Amino acid sequence: MMIPYGRQDISASDIAVVEEVLRSPNLTQGPAVPAFEASVSEYCGAAAAVATNSATSALHLACLALGVGPGDIVWTSPISFVASANVALYCGADVDFVDIDVETGNISIEALKTRLEDAARSGNLPKVLIPVHLCGTSCDMRSIASLSKQFGFKVIEDASHAIGGKYLSQPVGSCRYSDITVFSFHPVKIITTGEGGIAVTNSGDLAVRMRRLRSHGITREPAEVTNDPDGDWYYEQLELGFNYRMTDMQAALGISQMERLDEFVQKRHEIAEWYDSQFVDLSIEPLSRPADSYSALHLYVVLLSPEIARDVHRKVFKILREKQIGVNLHYIPIYRQPYYRQNGFDGYSLTGAEDYYRRAISIPMFPGLSAENLETVADALRSVLSEVEA
Ligand SMILES: *Cc1c(COP(=O)(O)O)cnc(C)c1O
Repeated sequence: MMIPYGRQDISASDIAVVEEVLRSPNLTQGPAVPAFEASVSEYCGAAAAVATNSATSALHLACLALGVGPGDIVWTSPISFVASANVALYCGADVDFVDIDVETGNISIEALKTRLEDAARSGNLPKVLIPVHLCGTSCDMRSIASLSKQFGFKVIEDASHAIGGKYLSQPVGSCRYSDITVFSFHPVKIITTGEGGIAVTNSGDLAVRMRRLRSHGITREPAEVTNDPDGDWYYEQLELGFNYRMTDMQAALGISQMERLDEFVQKRHEIAEWYDSQFVDLSIEPLSRPADSYSALHLYVVLLSPEIARDVHRKVFKILREKQIGVNLHYIPIYRQPYYRQNGFDGYSLTGAEDYYRRAISIPMFPGLSAENLETVADALRSVLSEVEA
């Protein structure tokens, strides 16, 4: 059987709490969602959290709450899932990409600086930057925060890979260097709610706005309504929102998974350290994990050496999959997608992103990998590399 690149870990107590909700009066809009929000915001040391039905929805709400709309520009990383860029388009804004550092796969601060200086000269600075913490390793947020002050843009961390990680000893999600941080709870991520996401922030105003937009733009809060209530039934729709709500079944699962978050990330570190030790003599290089970050290690990506990558990347993938190792590629540069090619990115290319795309391979990484699985993966890599290098 194929060893997948990622898989959820569901315990008996995870199942029990979901069942409990199913027997309760509230399948949605009950007590579990606010309790899950409190659990995540407390863990991160942030003031507020707004849970949603996906990280994509949370990123969309984050953009809207920061006022992104037609005429605005949002910048993100090309080496990410398409949602990081799509959310800007949902708002009617334009999107552009900042090149990455191949060593980490994260946004390059040098490239960002240069692009900002150019954009300041030509008068098309971004309104929002969405840095992506690839594999769960934080971007250089201190530099990003200082550039955001200098050039006047807002920051949404796409931390879909990074719950349970730290940056400068603070939990990712503390929002010390950003306006909003978003996590994903898709089953391949660090913890899961089936589908689900959350936006955390230290701004009460942004939290109120995201909470309202999550549920149709409707409020019942006396402080928010504009007219005198007609009666106890009264609510007002103040703007055009969505139904992006999380259910109580999902939130209960999330609360239960939060209890094992640190354990999950610890296990991922044990696996990564073992992989690191196995690959020192091979012609592959794991992505670097800078010392200022404690990675959540959502993914373990290795880069083929540039000398052999061009000829053998495809072949290495094929052979590993034949050997039942579920390797994957995170990610195809977003601007290469046909939709983006057809919408302004024809012929567009960034050097770092292209180099990364030619060399990257995600190998299996999840807490449930057995010692035997790990040996299988390492053996397969050793044998495939000696085959293609012969
Ligand atoms: C998974 C992921 C998303 C989207 O998350 P969903 O919860 O599936 O909507 C966005 N950005 C990145 C980097 C992701 O990995």
